[in-house]
Amino acid sequence: MHKKQTRSKQKQMVKDMDMAGDRREDVVIVGGGISGLATALALYRKGIRSLVLEKSKTLQATGGIIVHSNGWRALEQLGVASYLRQTADPILSGQFSSLDNGKQEEIPIWKEEMRCVRRTDLVNILAQNLPLETVRYGCNVLSIELDPVTSYPVLQLQNGTTLNAKVVIGCDGVNSKITNLTGAKAPNRLNVIGVRSFTIYPNGHKFGSEFKMIRKGDVTVGVIPMTTNQVHWFITRKYLSQEGFKISKSPKLIMNFSTESVKDFPSSVKEMVNNCWLECLHFSEYIKYRSPWNILCTHFRVGTVTVAGDALHAMTPFIAQGGSAALEDAVVLARCFARKAVVGGPGEIGSKLMVEKAFDEYLKERKTRLLRLTFESTLLGKMEETSSKLIKLLCIVLMVVLFRDLFAHTRYDCGKL
Ligand SMILES: Cc1cc2nc3c(=O)[nH]c(=O)nc-3n(C[C@H](O)[C@H](O)[C@H](O)COP(=O)(O)OP(=O)(O)OC[C@H]3O[C@@H](n4cnc5c(N)ncnc54)[C@H](O)[C@@H]3O)c2cc1C
Repeated sequence: MHKKQTRSKQKQMVKDMDMAGDRREDVVIVGGGISGLATALALYRKGIRSLVLEKSKTLQATGGIIVHSNGWRALEQLGVASYLRQTADPILSGQFSSLDNGKQEEIPIWKEEMRCVRRTDLVNILAQNLPLETVRYGCNVLSIELDPVTSYPVLQLQNGTTLNAKVVIGCDGVNSKITNLTGAKAPNRLNVIGVRSFTIYPNGHKFGSEFKMIRKGDVTVGVIPMTTNQVHWFITRKYLSQEGFKISKSPKLIMNFSTESVKDFPSSVKEMVNNCWLECLHFSEYIKYRSPWNILCTHFRVGTVTVAGDALHAMTPFIAQGGSAALEDAVVLARCFARKAVVGGPGEIGSKLMVEKAFDEYLKERKTRLLRLTFESTLLGKMEETSSKLIKLLCIVLMVVLFRDLFAHTRYDCGKL
Protein backbone atom coordinates (compact mmCIF):
# COMPACT_ATOMS: atom_id res chain seq x y z
CA MET A 1 0.00 0.00 0.00
CA HIS A 2 2.71 2.42 1.05
CA LYS A 3 4.79 1.57 -2.03
CA LYS A 4 1.80 2.12 -4.32
CA GLN A 5 1.22 5.54 -2.80
CA THR A 6 4.88 6.45 -3.25
CA ARG A 7 4.79 5.39 -6.92
CA SER A 8 1.66 7.38 -7.74
CA LYS A 9 3.20 10.39 -5.97
CA GLN A 10 6.33 9.98 -8.09
CA LYS A 11 4.28 9.74 -11.29
CA GLN A 12 2.49 12.96 -10.39
CA MET A 13 5.81 14.60 -9.67
CA VAL A 14 7.18 13.47 -13.03
CA LYS A 15 4.12 14.97 -14.75
CA ASP A 16 4.60 18.26 -12.88
CA MET A 17 8.23 18.34 -13.81
CA ASP A 18 7.52 17.69 -17.49
CA MET A 19 5.16 20.63 -17.50
CA ALA A 20 7.65 22.89 -15.77
CA GLY A 21 10.65 22.45 -18.09
CA ASP A 22 11.97 21.26 -21.44
CA ARG A 23 13.24 17.82 -20.46
CA ARG A 24 13.43 15.51 -17.49
CA GLU A 25 16.06 13.05 -16.35
CA ASP A 26 16.40 10.99 -13.18
CA VAL A 27 20.10 11.22 -12.35
CA VAL A 28 22.22 13.91 -14.01
CA ILE A 29 25.97 14.12 -13.53
CA VAL A 30 27.55 17.43 -14.49
CA GLY A 31 31.10 16.95 -15.81
CA GLY A 32 32.67 14.05 -17.67
CA GLY A 33 36.13 13.99 -16.09
CA ILE A 34 37.48 11.18 -13.90
CA SER A 35 34.92 11.87 -11.20
CA GLY A 36 31.83 12.16 -13.43
CA LEU A 37 32.62 9.05 -15.47
CA ALA A 38 33.58 6.98 -12.41
CA THR A 39 30.37 8.04 -10.64
CA ALA A 40 28.26 7.15 -13.69
CA LEU A 41 29.98 3.77 -13.92
CA ALA A 42 29.62 3.01 -10.21
CA LEU A 43 25.90 3.84 -10.37
CA TYR A 44 25.52 1.77 -13.53
CA ARG A 45 27.14 -1.22 -11.84
CA LYS A 46 24.44 -0.86 -9.17
CA GLY A 47 21.70 -0.80 -11.84
CA ILE A 48 21.18 2.98 -11.82
CA ARG A 49 21.30 4.81 -15.14
CA SER A 50 22.51 8.40 -15.33
CA LEU A 51 23.17 11.10 -17.89
CA VAL A 52 26.58 12.79 -17.91
CA LEU A 53 26.71 16.33 -19.30
CA GLU A 54 30.19 17.31 -20.48
CA LYS A 55 30.86 20.76 -21.85
CA SER A 56 33.79 19.72 -24.09
CA LYS A 57 33.19 18.17 -27.51
CA THR A 58 35.24 15.08 -26.56
CA LEU A 59 36.70 13.55 -23.39
CA GLN A 60 39.40 15.86 -22.04
CA ALA A 61 42.49 14.34 -20.46
CA THR A 62 46.16 15.13 -20.79
CA GLY A 63 49.31 13.61 -19.32
CA GLY A 64 49.58 10.97 -16.63
CA ILE A 65 48.07 10.47 -13.22
CA ILE A 66 49.60 8.61 -10.29
CA VAL A 67 47.22 6.04 -8.85
CA HIS A 68 48.07 4.69 -5.39
CA SER A 69 46.76 1.45 -3.82
CA ASN A 70 43.58 3.10 -2.55
CA GLY A 71 42.77 4.22 -6.11
CA TRP A 72 43.45 0.72 -7.45
CA ARG A 73 41.03 -0.72 -4.91
CA ALA A 74 38.34 1.65 -6.15
CA LEU A 75 39.18 0.80 -9.78
CA GLU A 76 38.78 -2.90 -8.93
CA GLN A 77 35.27 -2.17 -7.65
CA LEU A 78 34.54 -0.35 -10.89
CA GLY A 79 35.78 -3.39 -12.85
CA VAL A 80 38.52 -1.61 -14.84
CA ALA A 81 41.66 -2.20 -12.76
CA SER A 82 42.96 -5.24 -14.63
CA TYR A 83 42.75 -3.46 -17.99
CA LEU A 84 44.54 -0.38 -16.65
CA ARG A 85 47.27 -2.43 -14.98
CA GLN A 86 48.31 -3.64 -18.42
CA THR A 87 48.87 -0.05 -19.55
CA ALA A 88 51.19 1.11 -16.73
CA ASP A 89 54.17 -0.53 -15.02
CA PRO A 90 54.40 -0.58 -11.21
CA ILE A 91 56.70 1.91 -9.51
CA LEU A 92 58.98 -0.05 -7.21
CA SER A 93 61.01 2.59 -5.43
CA GLY A 94 61.27 6.31 -4.86
CA GLN A 95 63.99 8.82 -4.21
CA PHE A 96 64.04 12.46 -3.14
CA SER A 97 67.14 14.51 -3.99
CA SER A 98 67.93 18.08 -3.08
CA LEU A 99 70.32 19.80 -5.49
CA ASP A 100 70.76 22.60 -2.92
CA ASN A 101 72.46 20.49 -0.24
CA GLY A 102 73.07 17.13 -1.98
CA LYS A 103 70.71 15.33 0.43
CA GLN A 104 69.16 12.10 -0.87
CA GLU A 105 66.35 10.17 0.81
CA GLU A 106 64.42 7.06 -0.04
CA ILE A 107 60.68 7.49 -0.53
CA PRO A 108 59.29 4.19 0.80
CA ILE A 109 56.59 3.67 -1.81
CA TRP A 110 57.47 0.13 -2.80
CA LYS A 111 55.33 -1.25 -0.01
CA GLU A 112 52.14 -0.23 -1.82
CA GLU A 113 50.92 -0.44 -5.42
CA MET A 114 51.69 2.74 -7.32
CA ARG A 115 51.41 3.20 -11.08
CA CYS A 116 51.16 6.20 -13.32
CA VAL A 117 48.46 5.74 -15.94
CA ARG A 118 47.68 7.89 -18.95
CA ARG A 119 44.67 10.03 -18.17
CA THR A 120 43.24 9.23 -21.60
CA ASP A 121 43.42 5.48 -20.84
CA LEU A 122 41.62 6.05 -17.55
CA VAL A 123 38.75 8.19 -18.85
CA ASN A 124 38.36 6.11 -22.02
CA ILE A 125 37.99 2.82 -20.17
CA LEU A 126 35.50 4.37 -17.73
CA ALA A 127 33.48 5.77 -20.65
CA GLN A 128 33.67 2.54 -22.69
CA ASN A 129 32.07 0.61 -19.85
CA LEU A 130 29.03 2.89 -19.80
CA PRO A 131 25.93 2.27 -21.90
CA LEU A 132 25.88 4.16 -25.21
CA GLU A 133 24.77 7.77 -25.00
CA THR A 134 25.34 8.05 -21.26
CA VAL A 135 27.72 10.93 -21.93
CA ARG A 136 26.37 13.93 -23.79
CA TYR A 137 29.22 16.07 -25.12
CA GLY A 138 29.16 19.79 -25.88
CA CYS A 139 26.64 20.30 -23.08
CA ASN A 140 27.66 23.26 -20.98
CA VAL A 141 25.63 23.73 -17.82
CA LEU A 142 25.25 27.46 -17.26
CA SER A 143 23.39 27.43 -13.99
CA ILE A 144 21.45 25.32 -11.54
CA GLU A 145 18.62 26.17 -9.17
CA LEU A 146 15.98 24.39 -7.16
CA ASP A 147 12.45 24.52 -8.53
CA PRO A 148 10.47 26.70 -6.08
CA VAL A 149 7.50 24.30 -6.24
CA THR A 150 9.00 20.80 -6.39
CA SER A 151 12.44 21.64 -4.84
CA TYR A 152 14.00 19.40 -7.47
CA PRO A 153 17.00 20.74 -9.40
CA VAL A 154 16.65 22.56 -12.71
CA LEU A 155 19.66 22.97 -14.98
CA GLN A 156 20.01 25.71 -17.56
CA LEU A 157 22.10 24.60 -20.54
CA GLN A 158 24.05 26.78 -22.94
CA ASN A 159 21.97 25.61 -25.90
CA GLY A 160 18.99 27.37 -24.35
CA THR A 161 17.23 24.29 -23.00
CA THR A 162 16.27 23.52 -19.44
CA LEU A 163 16.74 20.13 -17.87
CA ASN A 164 14.74 18.98 -14.87
CA ALA A 165 16.34 16.27 -12.80
CA LYS A 166 15.47 14.28 -9.73
CA VAL A 167 19.09 14.10 -8.71
CA VAL A 168 22.16 16.14 -9.71
CA ILE A 169 25.73 15.16 -8.89
CA GLY A 170 28.22 17.93 -9.60
CA CYS A 171 31.50 16.50 -10.88
CA ASP A 172 32.40 19.71 -12.66
CA GLY A 173 35.85 20.20 -11.17
CA VAL A 174 37.53 22.82 -9.07
CA ASN A 175 35.45 25.76 -10.39
CA SER A 176 32.20 23.87 -9.89
CA LYS A 177 28.92 25.72 -10.43
CA ILE A 178 27.11 22.95 -8.60
CA THR A 179 29.26 23.36 -5.46
CA ASN A 180 28.28 27.05 -5.41
CA LEU A 181 24.62 26.02 -5.02
CA THR A 182 25.48 24.07 -1.88
CA GLY A 183 26.76 27.28 -0.31
CA ALA A 184 30.43 26.28 -0.32
CA LYS A 185 33.04 29.02 -0.40
CA ALA A 186 35.33 29.30 -3.43
CA PRO A 187 38.45 27.14 -3.04
CA ASN A 188 41.66 28.68 -1.77
CA ARG A 189 44.54 29.55 -4.03
CA LEU A 190 48.08 28.32 -3.51
CA ASN A 191 50.71 30.54 -5.07
CA VAL A 192 52.33 27.61 -6.79
CA ILE A 193 52.35 26.91 -10.52
CA GLY A 194 52.07 23.34 -11.81
CA VAL A 195 53.17 22.04 -15.23
CA ARG A 196 52.85 18.42 -16.30
CA SER A 197 53.38 16.42 -19.46
CA PHE A 198 54.99 13.19 -20.60
CA THR A 199 57.96 12.24 -22.73
CA ILE A 200 58.29 9.27 -25.05
CA TYR A 201 61.64 7.46 -25.34
CA PRO A 202 61.45 5.26 -28.49
CA ASN A 203 64.53 3.30 -27.34
CA GLY A 204 63.58 3.11 -23.67
CA HIS A 205 64.36 5.49 -20.79
CA LYS A 206 66.94 5.13 -18.03
CA PHE A 207 64.78 5.93 -15.00
CA GLY A 208 63.97 2.26 -14.33
CA SER A 209 60.92 1.82 -12.12
CA GLU A 210 61.88 4.55 -9.67
CA PHE A 211 59.83 7.62 -8.85
CA LYS A 212 62.16 10.64 -8.50
CA MET A 213 61.55 13.97 -6.82
CA ILE A 214 64.32 16.50 -7.38
CA ARG A 215 64.39 19.91 -5.81
CA LYS A 216 66.43 23.06 -6.39
CA GLY A 217 65.45 26.38 -4.86
CA ASP A 218 61.71 26.77 -5.26
CA VAL A 219 61.47 24.33 -8.19
CA THR A 220 60.43 20.70 -7.65
CA VAL A 221 60.50 18.19 -10.48
CA GLY A 222 58.76 14.82 -10.27
CA VAL A 223 59.68 12.03 -12.69
CA ILE A 224 57.37 9.01 -12.81
CA PRO A 225 58.04 6.18 -15.29
CA MET A 226 54.80 4.89 -16.86
CA THR A 227 56.18 2.14 -19.11
CA THR A 228 59.68 1.27 -20.33
CA ASN A 229 59.52 4.05 -22.92
CA GLN A 230 57.19 6.62 -21.43
CA VAL A 231 57.74 8.98 -18.50
CA HIS A 232 55.26 11.32 -16.82
CA TRP A 233 56.73 14.41 -15.19
CA PHE A 234 55.63 17.51 -13.38
CA ILE A 235 57.21 20.77 -12.28
CA THR A 236 55.94 22.86 -9.39
CA ARG A 237 57.28 26.29 -8.69
CA LYS A 238 56.31 29.31 -6.68
CA TYR A 239 54.09 31.77 -8.52
CA LEU A 240 56.40 34.43 -9.90
CA SER A 241 54.41 37.28 -11.38
CA GLN A 242 51.24 38.10 -13.25
CA GLU A 243 52.71 36.29 -16.29
CA GLY A 244 50.93 33.05 -15.39
CA PHE A 245 47.73 33.79 -17.24
CA LYS A 246 49.59 34.63 -20.49
CA ILE A 247 51.74 31.50 -20.19
CA SER A 248 48.73 29.21 -19.76
CA LYS A 249 47.38 30.25 -23.17
CA SER A 250 50.42 29.26 -25.22
CA PRO A 251 52.18 25.85 -25.38
CA LYS A 252 55.32 27.65 -26.55
CA LEU A 253 55.36 29.90 -23.46
CA ILE A 254 54.64 26.90 -21.18
CA MET A 255 57.59 25.15 -22.81
CA ASN A 256 59.86 28.18 -22.29
CA PHE A 257 58.74 28.40 -18.67
CA SER A 258 59.44 24.67 -18.17
CA THR A 259 62.91 24.68 -19.76
CA GLU A 260 63.85 27.81 -17.83
CA SER A 261 62.66 26.18 -14.56
CA VAL A 262 64.92 23.12 -15.02
CA LYS A 263 67.99 24.87 -16.48
CA ASP A 264 70.11 23.95 -13.41
CA PHE A 265 68.83 20.35 -13.21
CA PRO A 266 70.70 17.20 -14.39
CA SER A 267 70.88 16.71 -18.17
CA SER A 268 68.47 13.72 -18.01
CA VAL A 269 65.77 16.05 -16.61
CA LYS A 270 66.52 18.83 -19.13
CA GLU A 271 66.31 16.35 -22.04
CA MET A 272 63.09 14.92 -20.68
CA VAL A 273 61.46 18.36 -20.56
CA ASN A 274 62.87 19.46 -23.95
CA ASN A 275 61.59 16.32 -25.70
CA CYS A 276 58.18 16.25 -24.08
CA TRP A 277 54.91 15.69 -25.86
CA LEU A 278 53.87 19.31 -26.55
CA GLU A 279 50.15 18.57 -27.04
CA CYS A 280 50.05 17.11 -23.55
CA LEU A 281 51.72 20.05 -21.79
CA HIS A 282 49.31 21.12 -19.08
CA PHE A 283 49.77 24.33 -17.10
CA SER A 284 47.93 25.12 -13.85
CA GLU A 285 48.23 28.78 -13.01
CA TYR A 286 47.78 28.69 -9.24
CA ILE A 287 46.77 25.48 -7.58
CA LYS A 288 43.33 25.57 -6.03
CA TYR A 289 42.44 23.59 -2.94
CA ARG A 290 39.90 23.28 -0.15
CA SER A 291 41.17 23.49 3.38
CA PRO A 292 40.17 20.75 5.84
CA TRP A 293 38.09 23.25 7.86
CA ASN A 294 36.23 24.20 4.68
CA ILE A 295 35.45 20.50 4.11
CA LEU A 296 34.38 20.16 7.74
CA CYS A 297 32.13 23.23 7.83
CA THR A 298 30.33 22.87 4.49
CA HIS A 299 27.39 20.55 3.97
CA PHE A 300 27.93 20.01 0.19
CA ARG A 301 24.32 19.02 -0.33
CA VAL A 302 21.23 21.01 -1.02
CA GLY A 303 18.03 19.03 -1.62
CA THR A 304 18.88 16.21 -4.02
CA VAL A 305 22.03 17.90 -5.29
CA THR A 306 25.51 16.95 -4.16
CA VAL A 307 29.09 17.00 -5.47
CA ALA A 308 32.07 14.67 -5.94
CA GLY A 309 35.69 14.79 -7.12
CA ASP A 310 37.47 18.15 -7.26
CA ALA A 311 34.09 19.87 -6.93
CA LEU A 312 34.01 18.49 -3.39
CA HIS A 313 37.64 18.27 -2.37
CA ALA A 314 40.08 20.05 -4.70
CA MET A 315 43.48 19.43 -3.11
CA THR A 316 47.09 20.32 -3.79
CA PRO A 317 48.84 17.66 -5.92
CA PHE A 318 51.65 16.96 -3.41
CA ILE A 319 50.22 13.64 -2.25
CA ALA A 320 48.85 12.77 -5.73
CA GLN A 321 45.44 11.82 -4.34
CA GLY A 322 42.85 14.06 -6.04
CA GLY A 323 42.05 11.51 -8.75
CA SER A 324 42.10 8.46 -6.48
CA ALA A 325 39.87 10.26 -3.97
CA ALA A 326 37.43 10.96 -6.83
CA LEU A 327 37.35 7.22 -7.60
CA GLU A 328 36.64 6.48 -3.94
CA ASP A 329 33.82 9.08 -3.93
CA ALA A 330 32.22 7.25 -6.86
CA VAL A 331 32.20 3.88 -5.07
CA VAL A 332 30.90 5.28 -1.77
CA LEU A 333 28.26 7.48 -3.42
CA ALA A 334 26.86 4.64 -5.55
CA ARG A 335 26.85 2.26 -2.56
CA CYS A 336 24.94 4.72 -0.34
CA PHE A 337 22.60 5.67 -3.17
CA ALA A 338 21.71 2.07 -4.03
CA ARG A 339 21.20 1.24 -0.35
CA LYS A 340 19.11 4.25 0.65
CA ALA A 341 17.60 5.90 -2.42
CA VAL A 342 16.42 3.09 -4.66
CA VAL A 343 12.95 1.56 -4.29
CA GLY A 344 11.26 -1.42 -5.89
CA GLY A 345 12.56 -2.24 -9.37
CA PRO A 346 16.18 -1.84 -10.40
CA GLY A 347 17.29 1.75 -10.49
CA GLU A 348 13.92 3.21 -9.50
CA ILE A 349 14.68 6.36 -7.52
CA GLY A 350 12.85 6.81 -4.22
CA SER A 351 11.49 9.94 -2.60
CA LYS A 352 13.37 13.19 -2.15
CA LEU A 353 13.93 12.35 1.51
CA MET A 354 15.46 8.99 0.61
CA VAL A 355 17.88 10.64 -1.82
CA GLU A 356 18.80 13.24 0.78
CA LYS A 357 19.49 10.54 3.37
CA ALA A 358 21.63 8.63 0.86
CA PHE A 359 23.70 11.73 0.09
CA ASP A 360 24.09 12.61 3.76
CA GLU A 361 25.40 9.13 4.44
CA TYR A 362 27.82 9.45 1.51
CA LEU A 363 29.08 12.86 2.68
CA LYS A 364 29.48 11.69 6.28
CA GLU A 365 31.61 8.74 5.19
CA ARG A 366 33.68 10.82 2.79
CA LYS A 367 34.30 13.74 5.13
CA THR A 368 36.15 11.61 7.66
CA ARG A 369 38.48 10.42 4.91
CA LEU A 370 38.80 13.82 3.20
CA LEU A 371 39.69 15.70 6.38
CA ARG A 372 42.96 13.81 6.64
CA LEU A 373 43.74 13.91 2.93
CA THR A 374 43.10 17.64 2.62
CA PHE A 375 44.99 18.39 5.84
CA GLU A 376 48.08 16.53 4.66
CA SER A 377 48.00 17.97 1.13
CA THR A 378 47.37 21.50 2.47
CA LEU A 379 50.35 21.27 4.83
CA LEU A 380 52.62 20.08 2.01
CA GLY A 381 51.28 22.83 -0.24
CA LYS A 382 51.93 25.50 2.40
CA MET A 383 55.49 24.23 2.83
CA GLU A 384 55.97 24.60 -0.92
CA GLU A 385 54.48 28.09 -1.02
CA THR A 386 55.74 29.85 2.06
CA SER A 387 58.93 31.88 2.38
CA SER A 388 58.49 32.13 6.14
CA LYS A 389 60.82 29.85 8.11
CA LEU A 390 58.38 29.88 11.02
CA ILE A 391 55.42 28.66 8.94
CA LYS A 392 57.62 26.03 7.33
CA LEU A 393 58.74 24.81 10.75
CA LEU A 394 55.15 24.70 11.98
CA CYS A 395 54.13 22.65 8.93
CA ILE A 396 57.02 20.24 9.48
CA VAL A 397 56.07 19.78 13.14
CA LEU A 398 52.43 19.11 12.21
CA MET A 399 53.50 16.69 9.48
CA VAL A 400 55.71 14.75 11.90
CA VAL A 401 53.01 14.63 14.59
CA LEU A 402 50.01 13.86 12.37
CA PHE A 403 51.40 12.21 9.25
CA ARG A 404 54.61 10.47 10.27
CA ASP A 405 53.75 7.64 7.87
CA LEU A 406 53.58 9.60 4.60
CA PHE A 407 51.85 6.77 2.77
CA ALA A 408 49.26 5.80 5.39
CA HIS A 409 46.53 7.36 3.22
CA THR A 410 47.26 4.88 0.41
CA ARG A 411 46.24 1.94 2.61
CA TYR A 412 42.65 3.18 2.83
CA ASP A 413 39.98 0.87 1.45
CA CYS A 414 36.73 2.48 0.30
CA GLY A 415 35.01 -0.90 0.53
CA LYS A 416 32.75 -2.84 -1.77
CA LEU A 417 30.55 -1.17 -4.31
C1 LIG B 1 49.59 19.49 -11.54
C2 LIG B 1 48.60 18.45 -11.03
C3 LIG B 1 49.01 17.13 -10.87
C4 LIG B 1 48.12 16.17 -10.38
N1 LIG B 1 48.55 14.89 -10.21
C5 LIG B 1 47.71 13.96 -9.70
C6 LIG B 1 48.14 12.61 -9.51
O1 LIG B 1 49.26 12.25 -9.86
N2 LIG B 1 47.27 11.72 -8.95
C7 LIG B 1 45.99 12.08 -8.59
O2 LIG B 1 45.23 11.23 -8.09
N3 LIG B 1 45.56 13.35 -8.78
C8 LIG B 1 46.37 14.29 -9.33
N4 LIG B 1 45.92 15.56 -9.53
C9 LIG B 1 44.52 15.86 -9.21
C10 LIG B 1 43.58 15.32 -10.29
O3 LIG B 1 44.02 15.78 -11.56
C11 LIG B 1 42.16 15.80 -10.04
O4 LIG B 1 41.82 15.56 -8.71
C12 LIG B 1 41.16 15.08 -10.94
O5 LIG B 1 41.46 15.30 -12.30
C13 LIG B 1 39.76 15.59 -10.64
O6 LIG B 1 38.84 15.03 -11.52
P1 LIG B 1 37.39 15.67 -11.64
O7 LIG B 1 36.65 14.81 -12.61
O8 LIG B 1 36.82 15.90 -10.29
O9 LIG B 1 37.60 17.13 -12.25
P2 LIG B 1 38.08 17.55 -13.70
O10 LIG B 1 39.16 16.67 -14.19
O11 LIG B 1 38.37 19.01 -13.63
O12 LIG B 1 36.80 17.31 -14.62
C14 LIG B 1 35.70 18.17 -14.59
C15 LIG B 1 34.93 17.97 -15.90
O13 LIG B 1 33.73 18.74 -15.84
C16 LIG B 1 33.56 19.44 -17.05
N5 LIG B 1 32.78 20.65 -16.72
C17 LIG B 1 33.18 21.69 -15.95
N6 LIG B 1 32.20 22.60 -15.86
C18 LIG B 1 31.17 22.13 -16.61
C19 LIG B 1 29.87 22.63 -16.91
N7 LIG B 1 29.46 23.82 -16.43
N8 LIG B 1 29.05 21.90 -17.70
C20 LIG B 1 29.46 20.69 -18.18
N9 LIG B 1 30.69 20.16 -17.94
C21 LIG B 1 31.53 20.87 -17.15
C22 LIG B 1 34.98 19.75 -17.52
O14 LIG B 1 35.03 19.99 -18.91
C23 LIG B 1 35.71 18.46 -17.11
O15 LIG B 1 35.67 17.49 -18.13
C24 LIG B 1 46.79 16.54 -10.04
C25 LIG B 1 46.37 17.86 -10.21
C26 LIG B 1 47.26 18.81 -10.71
C27 LIG B 1 46.77 20.23 -10.87
